[in-house]
Amino acid sequence: MKKIVVLATGGTIAGSSTSSLSGKYESGKIDINDILDSFDEIKDIAKVCGIDICNIGSQNMNENIWLELVRKCNELLSSNEVDAIVITHGTDTLEESAYFLNLTIKSHKPVVMSAAMRSHNSLSSDGAMNLYNAISVAAADESAGMGVLVVINDEIHLAREVSKMDTIALNAFSSPNCGKCGIVHYGKVKFYTKSLRQHTLQSKFNPDILPRVDILYDYAGAKIETLYKSNAIKGIVCAALGNGNLSPQMLKFLKSARDNEVVVVISSRVNGGVINGSELDFAELGFIASDSLNPQKSRVLLMLSLSSKEDIEKIRDNFDIY
Ligand code: ASP
Repeated sequence: MKKIVVLATGGTIAGSSTSSLSGKYESGKIDINDILDSFDEIKDIAKVCGIDICNIGSQNMNENIWLELVRKCNELLSSNEVDAIVITHGTDTLEESAYFLNLTIKSHKPVVMSAAMRSHNSLSSDGAMNLYNAISVAAADESAGMGVLVVINDEIHLAREVSKMDTIALNAFSSPNCGKCGIVHYGKVKFYTKSLRQHTLQSKFNPDILPRVDILYDYAGAKIETLYKSNAIKGIVCAALGNGNLSPQMLKFLKSARDNEVVVVISSRVNGGVINGSELDFAELGFIASDSLNPQKSRVLLMLSLSSKEDIEKIRDNFDIY
């Protein structure tokens, strides 16, 4: 039997409600080993043990926990006693953590993240099946070398592509540009595609600290001249309009940020497609286009690039490689 460690970080999957029929609950209340003990079915798939890394709503996730999580993953995966890792997480920032780990874990062993939209004691909670399926995917030989995978609602998604697209629906996650890479139905795993972008063992990133990168959201009539100034900010990702268009005030602000040696990445507030700039020449402006990464994933890649002290041309290449 495969040996799988479940690292728990909290979220709705560990959430508790006072009523099985209430949409109100508290994230991150139940210990992972209590969750694992609550269903026997997983004992037939693998030898599983749980470790609580933290027990938070993922709105409280931050760079320090990411660094702790990747250190723990790399330590466990380098051991012959561990065949794969499952990470439970809140849905809100799952996609950012998944992409961060996808670029920093140094192993081909399966790493699978999962979550739930309904709390542990909700009527018809999705947590147990999602976790059962995540452990099944982690135990499957075909999952090795796929990068970090996200398993939710019977679907398998690639860390780079997946995004939370609905605030409350059970099928909250999808991969808008590429679609899911596989399905898992009552533990039966099938893959259909894999990522052509570099990850895990091919990835060069090995961060100790993550420089501050902020995200700015553009909108019609944006008024940005009152924006804070901070020397701590090393990068800005703009959730721009459409294919990277910028309101006049945002363009002016980003040019001044660039002149102050802040690296500017242009992503989009649209949930799909690539940014290549039909109306603006990003290279000429000294900006970087995010390719198909959404703003929150662009921020992860920019933080990692800045942590390895790369120049703007190298960072630009990273957005084509990762
Ligand atoms: N606030 C929760 C979280 O992201 C929502 C969830 O898990 O679905 O942790």
